[in-house]
Amino acid sequence: MQKYIYFFGNNNTEGSSDMKFILGGKGANLAEMSKIGIPVPPGFTISTEVCRDYNSNNGTIPEGLESEVEDYLKKLEDATGKKFGDESNPLLVSVRSGAAASMPGMMDTILNLGLSETVVSSISQSTGNPRFAWDSYRRFIQMYGNVVENIEHEKFEHIIEEVKSSKGKKEDIEMTAEDWQEVVAEYKKLFQIEKDYEFPDDAKKQLWGAILAVIKSWNNARAETYRRLNHIDESKVFGTAVNVQSMVFGNLGPESGTGVAFTRNPSTGENVSYGEYLMNAQGEDVVAGIRTPKHLDSLKMENEAVYNQLMEIFSILEKHYRDMQDVEFTIENGKLFILQTRNGKRTAPASVKIAVDLVSEGLISEKEALLRVEPDKLDQLLHPTLDQNEKSKFKMIAKGLPASPGAGVGQVVFDAESAVEWKKQGKKVILVRLETSPEDIAGMNAAAGVLTARGGMTSHAAVVARGMGKCCVSGCESISVSEADKKMHVGDLVVLEGDLITLDGSTGEVFLGEVPTTDPELSGYFGTIMEWSDKYKKLGVRTNADTPKDAQVARDFGAKGIGLCRTEHMFFETDRIFAVRQMIVSDTVEQRKSALEKIFPIQKNDFKELFQIMKDFPVKIRLLDPPLHEFLPKTKEDIKELASEIGVSEEKLNEKIEYLHEFNPMMGHRGCRLGVTYPEIFEMQVRAIAEAACEIIKEGSSVTPEIMIPLIGEFNELKWLKDRLVPVIEETIQKFGVEMKYEIGTMIEIPRAALTADKIAEEADFFSFGTNDLTQMTYGFSRDDAGKFLGDYVEKKILPEDPFKTLDIVGVGKLMKMAVDLGRTTKKHLHIGICGEQGGDPATIKFCHEIGLDYVSCSPYRVPIARLSAAQAAIENEKI
Ligand code: PEP
Ligand code: MG
Repeated sequence: MQKYIYFFGNNNTEGSSDMKFILGGKGANLAEMSKIGIPVPPGFTISTEVCRDYNSNNGTIPEGLESEVEDYLKKLEDATGKKFGDESNPLLVSVRSGAAASMPGMMDTILNLGLSETVVSSISQSTGNPRFAWDSYRRFIQMYGNVVENIEHEKFEHIIEEVKSSKGKKEDIEMTAEDWQEVVAEYKKLFQIEKDYEFPDDAKKQLWGAILAVIKSWNNARAETYRRLNHIDESKVFGTAVNVQSMVFGNLGPESGTGVAFTRNPSTGENVSYGEYLMNAQGEDVVAGIRTPKHLDSLKMENEAVYNQLMEIFSILEKHYRDMQDVEFTIENGKLFILQTRNGKRTAPASVKIAVDLVSEGLISEKEALLRVEPDKLDQLLHPTLDQNEKSKFKMIAKGLPASPGAGVGQVVFDAESAVEWKKQGKKVILVRLETSPEDIAGMNAAAGVLTARGGMTSHAAVVARGMGKCCVSGCESISVSEADKKMHVGDLVVLEGDLITLDGSTGEVFLGEVPTTDPELSGYFGTIMEWSDKYKKLGVRTNADTPKDAQVARDFGAKGIGLCRTEHMFFETDRIFAVRQMIVSDTVEQRKSALEKIFPIQKNDFKELFQIMKDFPVKIRLLDPPLHEFLPKTKEDIKELASEIGVSEEKLNEKIEYLHEFNPMMGHRGCRLGVTYPEIFEMQVRAIAEAACEIIKEGSSVTPEIMIPLIGEFNELKWLKDRLVPVIEETIQKFGVEMKYEIGTMIEIPRAALTADKIAEEADFFSFGTNDLTQMTYGFSRDDAGKFLGDYVEKKILPEDPFKTLDIVGVGKLMKMAVDLGRTTKKHLHIGICGEQGGDPATIKFCHEIGLDYVSCSPYRVPIARLSAAQAAIENEKI
């Protein structure tokens, strides 16, 4: 017979803390605590396998479970010296959920089970405390009615309020035994009306009702949402266990009480316990906010012996679990019991401080400390964030994709020029657009945050905002933006230019009004975690940066070089867009070359600045990538203005725009294809890079430019371009008379490039995976439109995650691994990195480590996250 149940308490404990997949976190820790001598009321845990079987067998419990429950009830009776369902010496139990992954408050709990009117009378007599007995009974009916039979909580609360007001009473504490008895009578009437049967007196019937309800609560909507939001993998953590535990009572009188405490402060990480409790109360009174709980410190005054015992237990638990604990306790007539312990949830600053402190206290190693900090959470330390206490006071009007974290507060503007203008006047603005185009870059830079109705996590707005460390909410489909009327609608609400809104880039929430923010603190603890990360990681960490400002921020965050400089972003700056447009509308090579000559010195200067900031580190510069029409004006007025500026007729300009129009620009005339058609563009860029580098070398610094050619899918593309670009570089080196090493390599972002990577490696000095395009083209998901439906895919569990955010290891990852292996069959030490957005995602970084990449490159604000993730990857791989 399969074993489904495990006992804990009274020297008969069968489980332990390493059995959490079978016993759930709560069950495993109850067993562990019993073993190490912590006072835990005895009980038993029905394993998570029962929940799994129940769900896969259309709601039937496995054979043999009923008789096993009988056996364990008997054991529990022996352990407590009480009898389940007995009138004179009743055993009362709690029935609680608890899965392997902590899901606080998401599933159900029932306390005081085993009560009936006759049992209540006998408890009234034996305790001499009828008030306690009736209070416990009404709580039980309420929880049972709500959890097992889905009777709304409010209906019970309403009855309490009616009885209270009929007696002229305000607080629960004023209620007498008779008052609670009256409530019980009303509760039972409600139960009969709602469910058409009488509230069960039979303890076994109650127990099975509760066990099944707890099992079913695994699939309630709250729990499902929680698992989705917290990325709990249901194939690993399947189902809840059910803990049946003998009751101890915190509501037995003034010497009894109940509380919840953290062994360290979960908000700051300070090594001081932090908790709340209530005397003469049961667990839900503390959390439900009906009575204001007291701070743990006052327990010292109220009962010093219990307080000291509790502190000693905290210390034992911390040493045993080697982490900060979140503990539930109950005091029954002056005797302390621990009902639960688990690793406590904590804020990012607390997690960093606690990890470092535990190392200094000798409880954990540096490597363990690194594994204790969630990389994604570091984001909270790097950007100003919304004050969580204040946030709930404001109206949330919409929710989009959390495209770039941080907080953005400001007045709404609907175009980039106004953003720049208002910023000059000293105002803080939020740029709201239907979608952003590269032309909006100055406006985005001026804004405190960016909100777009369209576009996914890798849309232009999102990529650029992340690069700038600017808060951005994209793909916010519930807003409709009318840029011309300077208005946006959210349902019935109209938001006008100048209205104040707040964005939470970490959650995608949009609030009306100005929500207060708190500034980041890059404390010494954070620095220590970063230092340890660098000690253990194997992957290099570079940054994607197009401007000196981004490069500086990234270097300050610890980036060791640039993995991607998108040169097109430099083309949009106001001082050069005119020449760029002139180049695009040129009819002849000569005209184009003369326009390019104007751009050349500016580009060269850009590169010089980047080389200077990244001194001694490698800098990878990618040649022009987007289709040319992206640089042309779109509105009638702008076309008119440009035509007169560059001295061509409007008609001719319109013809050119028409000619450049593409049905599918993402797969059109872009990347290396532009270089094939207009080699002079790439030649100008390469000359600017080479001259900038030569000048830096002449000034005495070292630099190795790495020139990256985008969108290669065929060996001949790379060969043809290299044949034209290498002579330009060589000529420049000769002209300057310096020694300069350089590399020419390619992005791997088209599936065909991955499939033919062995051939491409013959001409490439390096590979860099462009996983934005590689994902787009592997899945056939347009990266600019997928935001519209990927949310549904994730919600409906068709995909586990948005593949533009975290790499699709199964498919896109397979192509990457193939390209790495093929590339290195041609060149054993081929240098390989990643520069798509996923390069800053912890799960992706771990995969990159495993397939042997040399580095990851990500937006500046993700550099610390990447450093920690890379260290975790190295440490986890050591363990295997
Ligand atoms: C990519 O495709 O992953 C990439 C880095 O290039 P871009 O996002 O500029 O297309
Ligand atoms: Mg790309």
